[in-house]
Amino acid sequence: MTTSKCGDIVIVGGGVIGLSIAYALAREGLRPILLDRREPGREASWAGAGLIPPIADRSPAARVSPNPLAALRTWSAGLYPDWTAALQDETGIDPGYRRTGGVDVAWTSREDDALRAAAGQWRAEGIAWERIPPGDYARVEPALNPELKSVYFLPDRAQVRNPRLLAALKAAVVRRGAVLEGYRAALGFTLNGGRVAAVRTESGEIPCGRAILAAGAWSGGLLEPAGVRAPTPPIKGQIVLLRAERPLLRRVVEHGKKYLVPRDDGRILVGATEENAGFDARPTAAGARDLLEEAIRLCPALGDAAIEATWAGLRPGSVDGRPYIGIAPEVENLIIAAGHRRAGLQLAPGTAELVVDLVLGRAPRLDLSPFRPDRLPTSEPADDEAFRS
Ligand SMILES: Cc1cc2nc3c(=O)[nH]c(=O)nc-3n(C[C@H](O)[C@H](O)[C@H](O)COP(=O)(O)OP(=O)(O)OC[C@H]3O[C@@H](n4cnc5c(N)ncnc54)[C@H](O)[C@@H]3O)c2cc1C
Repeated sequence: MTTSKCGDIVIVGGGVIGLSIAYALAREGLRPILLDRREPGREASWAGAGLIPPIADRSPAARVSPNPLAALRTWSAGLYPDWTAALQDETGIDPGYRRTGGVDVAWTSREDDALRAAAGQWRAEGIAWERIPPGDYARVEPALNPELKSVYFLPDRAQVRNPRLLAALKAAVVRRGAVLEGYRAALGFTLNGGRVAAVRTESGEIPCGRAILAAGAWSGGLLEPAGVRAPTPPIKGQIVLLRAERPLLRRVVEHGKKYLVPRDDGRILVGATEENAGFDARPTAAGARDLLEEAIRLCPALGDAAIEATWAGLRPGSVDGRPYIGIAPEVENLIIAAGHRRAGLQLAPGTAELVVDLVLGRAPRLDLSPFRPDRLPTSEPADDEAFRS
C-alpha cells in the first residue's frame, strides 16, 4: 500500500457541504485535500432545486426562532448574498443567487391554517410576507391556478443555480491552493489512540492531522467501522425539468413539500418527491407522474410544457432532521458535517463557518449542542418546517 502526499486536513466528500468547508478553510489560508469517490458535486447537491429561504429583517423587533435549525437557517441565508458574490468575484462564475420572491399556496382550509401559523413565525422572525386576496393572485403570479384557497407572497424568497454554485466552489478552492481529488473514494479511517491517523483509500493512505467527513448519505456507513453511530439514511428526491414555450412563472411556487422553481432561462423545475428507496437514485415513472400532476394543478398552462429531463438525488437524513455538525464521539480530530436532509444547499455557508470555528479552536458562532453527532433522538420535532425544500 502506498502513502500519498500528507495533507494536514482531509475532507471526505465533495458535495456542497464538503466544498463549502474547503472554501471556508482555504479563505483562512489552509489547504485541505478533498476526496470524492466520483466527480465532486454530482450527487444530492447537484440534484437539489436550490431554494434558499428569505433573509430576515435585522431590526430589533425581529427575533431569531428558538428552534436551533431555524437559527442556523436564518444565519446561513443571511450569508448567501456576500458568499455568492465573493465566489463570483474570485472565479467569474455566477452561482445564480437571485431573490425572485415566492408564493406559498394552500388548497384546503387545513393547509390554509398551516400557512397562517407559518406566517406568524415569519412575522416573528422579521420575514416579509403578504396574504394575497382571492381574485388578486395574478398580481403576483399570473399563471397560478385561480381556484387556490390561499396565496402568501414572500418577496425575499431566493434561489441559487446549484450546478453553477458547485462549479464556482470547485474553481475557488483550487485557485486558493486546496487539492480536489475526484474518483478517489475513502474506504475508512485508520485510528490510533482515539485519533484519526490517516484516511484509507484504494490507492493508499493519506495521513492527516484532522479529517472532516462530509460524504452526504454515505457518511453514516463510513463511520460505522470506526465505532461511531451517526446514521445518514438516504431520502430520495426526484425532479422533473420542464420548458414552456413562453415564460410562465416568475416566482417560486410552493405547496407543502412540492414546488415549482422558474429559472431565468425559462425552464421550470418541478420538485420534489420524498421516498425511502435505499441508495436507488433512479427517477421513476410514478415519481414523475406525481410531480407533473401537482405542477399542472398549480399552474394549468404547464400542461403544454415540454419535459426536458428527470433526475433524482439522495438527501442525507439524520436521527431527527437536524444535521450533524461537530466532533465525532471518541475521535477527537474527526469532524462530521452531514445529514442536512432537505436543506443542505441553504445551510452550506453557515455549516462551513461553524466547521472552521471548530478547526481553528474558536468559540462556534452558534450553539452546536443541538447538532452534536452523538445526540439521542428526542420526541420533539427537530425539523424547521418553515423553509424546508
Ligand atoms: C430533489 C432534491 C431537491 C433538493 N432541494 C433543495 C433545495 O431546494 N434547497 C436546499 O437547501 N437543499 C435541497 N436539497 C437537499 C440538498 O441537496 C442536500 O441536503 C445537500 O446536497 C447535501 O449535501 P452533501 O454535500 O452533504 O451531500 P452530497 O451532495 O450527496 O455530497 C456527498 C459527496 O460525498 C461523496 N462521497 C460519498 N462517499 C464517499 C467516499 N466513500 N469517499 C469519498 N467521497 C464520497 C459523494 O460522491 C458526493 O459527492 C434537495 C435534495 C434533493 C435530492
